[in-house]
Amino acid sequence: MESLFEAAKSGIMATAGKEEILPEVKSQPLHKARETVGNPFVDNPRMTCREVSVYYGDKKAINNVSIDIARNEVIAMIGPSGCGKSTFLRCLNRMNDTVEGCRVVGDIRLDGMDIHDKSVDVVPLRARVGMVFQKPNPFPKSIFDNVAYGPKIHGLAQNRSELDEIVEGSLKKAGLWEEVQDRLNQPGTGLSGGQQQRLCIARAIAVSPEVILMDEPCSALDPIATAKIEELIAELREHYSIVIVTHSMQQAARVSQRTAYFHLGDLIEVGKTARIFTNPRHQLTEDYITGRFG
Ligand code: ADP
Repeated sequence: MESLFEAAKSGIMATAGKEEILPEVKSQPLHKARETVGNPFVDNPRMTCREVSVYYGDKKAINNVSIDIARNEVIAMIGPSGCGKSTFLRCLNRMNDTVEGCRVVGDIRLDGMDIHDKSVDVVPLRARVGMVFQKPNPFPKSIFDNVAYGPKIHGLAQNRSELDEIVEGSLKKAGLWEEVQDRLNQPGTGLSGGQQQRLCIARAIAVSPEVILMDEPCSALDPIATAKIEELIAELREHYSIVIVTHSMQQAARVSQRTAYFHLGDLIEVGKTARIFTNPRHQLTEDYITGRFG
């Protein structure tokens, strides 16, 4: 199994691509939640999730999941299509509030603050726990205004020069400044796909988040743009916690320090990424990473 991690990292796994054609798992978890194996908890976590379940109507999509998100880590959520990765990700900044018929139960905390508490306003919460989506979604505004929008509505800049600084700093952190500094007034939608995704990352960074959620951020990008985003994710870990949903085990192996494996709404196993890919403890994890599940 030793070579599996290296193989996964380099993308030469025999199973590469196979996961893409797995059918979506539609059956609902009627069973009692499986106990998570490995190490779902960390010291001094940025976020804690305890006994989180999610329902769409009366259908349960997430089954009693408990896990911590560490500071300055990239944690990858992997598993077959339909196992609940995106649903769980959306719990972390209450994006599921916007999904009709979706109900989240359980305790989720950001730096000890219960994110479901009545006193919590979701707008600042979603600044602290930002999100980058599968398909780059810049606003129909200039490059500058895409990044300046959040700081403006959250009152983070006292004047124009402070706003300029935030925009420049965010674009630099997102690795886009060099490419766009001469055309900040041009529309964000005119950039290439990879640039648009980095613009969306700059937009998330501009409001000083603690956590950035990424839902398959490279799935619409070519390999070169993907490599740039992956490099960027590695750099961003210095400042933020990053939770990334990916259908690519190679990507999980390249960018994350911890990996969480989901199956039919259950959190099956969590552990150091190198360990998950070389020495999975749960049979379901092993079946998935070796391509037997499908
Ligand atoms: P993944 O991200 O692992 O592919 P999802 O979180 O998208 O999985 O989906 C988990 C389950 O919840 C699936 O069975 C999916 O069909 C269901 N689901 C997701 N979004 C909705 C929705 N808006 N309404 C009803 N069911 C949904």
